[in-house]
Amino acid sequence: VRARVMQVEHKPDVGYADIGGIDEQMEEVRETVELPLKSPEMFDEVGIDPPSGVLLYGPPGTGKTMLAKAVANQTDATFIKMAGSELVHKFIGEGAKLVRDLFELARQSQPAVIFIDEIDAIAAKRTESKTSGDAEVQRTMMQLLSEMDGFDERGNISIIAATNRFDMLDRAILRPGRFDRLIEVPKPDAEGREMIFQIHTRSMNVADGVDYEALAEVADDASGADIKAICTEAGMFAIRDDRTEVRMEDFEQAWEKIQQESDADEEAVS
Ligand code: ATP
Repeated sequence: VRARVMQVEHKPDVGYADIGGIDEQMEEVRETVELPLKSPEMFDEVGIDPPSGVLLYGPPGTGKTMLAKAVANQTDATFIKMAGSELVHKFIGEGAKLVRDLFELARQSQPAVIFIDEIDAIAAKRTESKTSGDAEVQRTMMQLLSEMDGFDERGNISIIAATNRFDMLDRAILRPGRFDRLIEVPKPDAEGREMIFQIHTRSMNVADGVDYEALAEVADDASGADIKAICTEAGMFAIRDDRTEVRMEDFEQAWEKIQQESDADEEAVS
């Protein structure tokens, strides 16, 4: 069971240079997560506690997971990811135990970065979620809080959580000593989108005349994950046309296709 809910990677292969358009957020993560892992003595000497847990919130596909992985990369740490939704939907009856296992694994693999994705699945306000009334979900959340509260002997372990539904969270998890540092990770602006296009085309065979600034304008609602998908899809258009060089029109068609697909998804949901 543990293997299916937890994803463990030693020193994941993501660097800060792979992340575009969220420089401020990156700086804040470095200061609040990386620095305490790298130089805990500075916090001791100054006499302040580093944040207990950092919560990243914002729309899907904006780089929250990447930020957590980049910190683990920079600090030579083991990255341990657990998805809140999996925990609740697939392993009913196991939640609290899995949370205990998660922290135990982190203690054994220090330095470690614990990343809890979709934390809203285990920490939603009672009134706003059908599942949160579930005693099992409550127990899972209590276990998480007690692991964090009892974390004086933290050692080299950082805890980062992420959510797309900040408004749904039970405020109990945001108290001091828990997720007491909040960082909003928004969708990129035009300049950010341009940077992300540059990042994801780095290893592509791109034709002269591909204009990233213009692409960033065209794909005006795209997240980082959308831009990654546009680049891959643009490559597919070139391949279908039996070319090895990717042109401006391939990117434009790719964006159209991805928008159509996401419209279709929304219709399927509603
Ligand atoms: P979710 O809330 O859906 O889990 P997330 O915010 O954690 O999303 P990531 O998993 O970090 O998003 O991003 C998914 C993929 O999208 C990344 O692997 C990367 O290829 C691309 N991506 C997202 N944001 C960025 C960014 N700011 N810069 C570069 N690539 C990005």
